[in-house]
Amino acid sequence: MFAQIMINTNAKELNKVFDYIVPTEMEKTISIGARVFVPFGKGKNLSEGYVLDLKQESEFANKEIAKIEDNILTDENIELAKLMAEKYFCNVSDCIRLMLPPGNSSKNLTKRIKEKTSKFVYLALDKSVVLEDLETNKVKSQKHIKLLKFLIDNDGIEASDLEAITETSRAVMKTLEKNGYIIFKDEKVERNPLIHKNVKRDKKLELNDEQLAAFDQINFALENEEFAEYLLFGVTGSGKTEIYLQLIEKALEIGKKAMVLVPEISLTPQIIDRFLARFGNRIAVLHSKLSDGERFDEWNKIKENRADIIIGARSAIFAPVQNLGILIIDEAHDPSYKSDMTPRYHAKELARYLAKKNNFPLVLGSATPDIVDYYKAKNFDKELVELNKRANNAQLPDVKIIDMRHELAVGNRSMFSLELQEEIEKNLKEHKQTILFINRRGFSTFVMCRDCGHVMKCHNCNIALTYHSYGNRLKCHYCGYEERIPKVCPECGSNNIKYFGAGTQKVENEIHKLFPNASTIRMDIDTVSKKNSHEKILNKFKDENIDILIGTQMVAKGHHFPNVTLVGIVAADGSLNIGDYRAEERTFQTLTQVSGRAGREKEKGRVIIQTYNPDNYSIVCSQKQDYRKFYEGEIQLRKTLNYPPFCDIILIRIHSENEAKVKKVSEKIYEELLKQNNKNILVYKPVPSPIDKIQNTYRWRIVVKCKLNRNSLNTINNVVRSFYESRIKDVSIIVDSNPNNML
Ligand code: ADP
Ligand code: ZN
Ligand code: ZN
Repeated sequence: MFAQIMINTNAKELNKVFDYIVPTEMEKTISIGARVFVPFGKGKNLSEGYVLDLKQESEFANKEIAKIEDNILTDENIELAKLMAEKYFCNVSDCIRLMLPPGNSSKNLTKRIKEKTSKFVYLALDKSVVLEDLETNKVKSQKHIKLLKFLIDNDGIEASDLEAITETSRAVMKTLEKNGYIIFKDEKVERNPLIHKNVKRDKKLELNDEQLAAFDQINFALENEEFAEYLLFGVTGSGKTEIYLQLIEKALEIGKKAMVLVPEISLTPQIIDRFLARFGNRIAVLHSKLSDGERFDEWNKIKENRADIIIGARSAIFAPVQNLGILIIDEAHDPSYKSDMTPRYHAKELARYLAKKNNFPLVLGSATPDIVDYYKAKNFDKELVELNKRANNAQLPDVKIIDMRHELAVGNRSMFSLELQEEIEKNLKEHKQTILFINRRGFSTFVMCRDCGHVMKCHNCNIALTYHSYGNRLKCHYCGYEERIPKVCPECGSNNIKYFGAGTQKVENEIHKLFPNASTIRMDIDTVSKKNSHEKILNKFKDENIDILIGTQMVAKGHHFPNVTLVGIVAADGSLNIGDYRAEERTFQTLTQVSGRAGREKEKGRVIIQTYNPDNYSIVCSQKQDYRKFYEGEIQLRKTLNYPPFCDIILIRIHSENEAKVKKVSEKIYEELLKQNNKNILVYKPVPSPIDKIQNTYRWRIVVKCKLNRNSLNTINNVVRSFYESRIKDVSIIVDSNPNNML
């Protein structure tokens, strides 16, 4: 027997299989997906590889497989990995690594995560025997007596716990072991990320008519075990989550499992609580804020069929779950479902693949659907399910747009309009809470010399530095470079240096100046880097009734704060003019989501949007949460300019520290693509990227527009893979389909 083996490596030229002889004694145990060690190349060390196929004949095989490591992967994994490699222009082994148990892809075997074991203590004799020995005073030491008495009622306890509870020591246990009373056993302990949670159980709500209709529609495919894709388009607070919960309950009833993907899960601890409250502990969670050990144990819990519901961020799509009955993607428009590292996959596309293959429904939930999804739903490529009112009869908030140019004209130089100031004051008086949103962290967004116009930029990146008041420093948000703020302009020596634009720190600062008695809390990357800190900030805001929460995008996601009645969007323009065809879509989504945090209970919410572009249609439409109107405008524009959904965009990035080389290679790739003479793809001339230098690396790009299908994928793969294989020194080529970010 022979095996086709792919070596576990990121070397792009090694994305090919090599034939190996399967020694006779391995023939019974080897399978497609097995991890093996093989001799490879010149080195003495064995290399790790994966079995992609098995066959009876081979012309090339001349070396034997040395060892089978495990059979964790299935042939479905391998099939998916192969498909992904083509679709996302990467190595099969890059994709396989995503499917391995967490913490198991390191080349250094000793660094791989394993099961955690701990010492447990058991009675070595029958309970009655021990009791008798105690009664007949055979055991003398008080400590020994105490420990044995405790063990009689609590046999099989972790040694460290026993030590703490009975206030004894390891030495005491050792003596008892020697005397034949107890034994130690190494046992597996599970690292459980939900252990600190203490959630009250709840019961299902009675669905309203709209919810019921939506439920029935989706339940049809669920019960019939067939594929269907639903776009559940419901305004913020319309009760989508309640529908998910009831669909999942249905799936469990018919003996199936459920998966729910949420964006960057740690941002929304509240959603996990809702699942825990409904379903108790047969839940596994998978996301990047867990330790490797926790993720490893959650992964095993799924693999061993001990979890019915998997809740996770993007990469949970690779969880080893069998027998799924439904897959739900919440906030399906969220960019975090697309990976921005190799393999640059989109979880939604993989979810669709799994749902089709295994015959279950896929639900995409959103209050602000991705334009592409909505277009497809309207054109019968998926089913549109709508919820038009808030579930608990809360009204949508009143939204006001404030033209900041007017404020300047009437002499208000503050970053808050007079109206927003009044509203904040009102909320403070009434002890209601306020959320202030600004999509920049730090203090000022750029620092400029008023005399010569020189902007302070990062030395490694062609990007303006951001002023952070803490430590009085300028920081680069791309590479982390920092410097002290200069006293004079490095260009002309003038000391007329001014700060422009505003970030979260500045908002907080200004609030303290205007309302010295207001309590505030800030939430941005600078404040949430520690584990569970999102949760802590959000809980503190809620439980301690902090007056004002100031934050970036993070405050926009899914939170439900009953006492928040005012949302202020300090600058709505930040996400416009960013050189990306989705700028308007992102702006509309963010404004609508943030606004949706206001007045989610009895009292009607108020939202104030401050902008210098009050006529911009994404801003105007978000005022009424009018997604349909926004869509009509946006889809026309996309059609005229030929952007998705009317085509797909493939971005070929060419990066190098050598400026001349990056240009030369870009032009070569361009020529090769033209030579393919494929009428189905439109290739644009190579140009420097909008951010043309990051961390001393020059960045060029080629935009390709096409419909993604076998034909176009083949053409592009042919060209880029020949460049991968020729391994041009110091140049990296990255291909990204429908990238999140065109910069
Ligand atoms: P979404 O996920 O669409 O934002 P949620 O499911 O969070 O909406 O619901 C918003 C609020 O309405 C929550 O407080 C929820 O408990 C409540 N709710 C949802 N469905 C119902 C219902 N059928 N009856 C009463 N309240 C409901
Ligand atoms: Zn100057
Ligand atoms: Zn930098």
